[in-house]
Amino acid sequence: MTNLDAYRISSEPFYRPVESEIALFEAAHKSRMPVMLKGPTGCGKTRFVEHMAWRLGKPLITVSCHEDMTASDLVGRYLLDTDGTVWHDGPLTLAVREGAICYLDEIVEARQDTTVVIHSLTDDRRILPLEKKNEVVRAHPDFQVVISYNPGYQSVLKDLKESTKQRFGAIAFGYPSPDIEAEIVAREAGIDRRTAEVLVRIAERSRNLKGQGLEEGASTRMLINAGLLVAAGIAIEAACQVAMVVPITDDPDLRDALTGAIAACL
Ligand code: ADP
Repeated sequence: MTNLDAYRISSEPFYRPVESEIALFEAAHKSRMPVMLKGPTGCGKTRFVEHMAWRLGKPLITVSCHEDMTASDLVGRYLLDTDGTVWHDGPLTLAVREGAICYLDEIVEARQDTTVVIHSLTDDRRILPLEKKNEVVRAHPDFQVVISYNPGYQSVLKDLKESTKQRFGAIAFGYPSPDIEAEIVAREAGIDRRTAEVLVRIAERSRNLKGQGLEEGASTRMLINAGLLVAAGIAIEAACQVAMVVPITDDPDLRDALTGAIAACL
C-alpha cells in the first residue's frame, strides 16, 4: 500500500462533457501543465477534476482553500509526538512526492503569501523547498497542479497575483446549455426529464437576476438539491424555495422576484 491509495478514485465519477474540456485537460496533462478551472460555484469544476483523475488513472488530493490557511497547512510541519518532533508532509508535499493531481479548490480564498508556495512547482523548476526541514523535494513526473477560480468573487483584496495567474492554462466553465443541464439534473437527482427541465428554466430566470442584488444565480448544484427534494416527495415550489431561494437571498423583494419566477415556470 502506497501513501496514495486512499486518494485513488475507483469508479467512474459521472461527468457530462459540455464542450472540449476533456480533450483540453488531457492535452495539458501530457506536459503536466498547471490548469486553472475557471467558472461560477456549483457548475461542475470539482466533478470534472474527479472525472479526469479517474480517467487518467491518477490519485487526486483535494484541498479546500480558506483565508486562515497557511503555507504550512499545504507543505507540512513538525509535530510533537512520543518520539519528539516528527515532520508530517502536508497534502501538497504528498502529491509532489508521490505524483498525484493536487486540486486547490477556491484558490483565491487563500492569502497570497500562502499561494506563492506553488510558484516553484508551476514553472520548469518543479521543486518544492521545505524550508523548515531544509529539504528540496523534486516533483514526481506525474505531479500536476489544478486550481479552481471563481471570477465572480474577484475583488482587489481577493484575487490571484498576476505572477500566479500566468503560470496556468485556463479552461472556462459556465452553466451548461439547458438541454445538457436538464440531463445532468435528471440523472444526479433521480427525477424525470420534464421536472428537470422546469428546474432549469427556473434557474435561467434566477441567473438573469444576477447583478440586480443577487451575487450569483442558482447553480447546477442547487438545481440538483431541488431535484433531490422533489424525489423525496416535496412539491416542486417548496423544493425550489428550500434549495434555490432561501439560501441565496434574505432580501424580501428578491425573494418575491424569485418566487414569481418559479410560479411562471410551472
Ligand atoms: P464546482 O466545483 O464548480 O463548485 P461541482 O463540481 O461540485 O461544482 O458541481 C456541483 C454538482 O453539479 C456536482 O456534484 C454534480 O452533481 C453536478 N454537475 C455539474 N456539472 C456537471 C457535469 N457536466 N456532469 C455531471 N455532473 C455535473
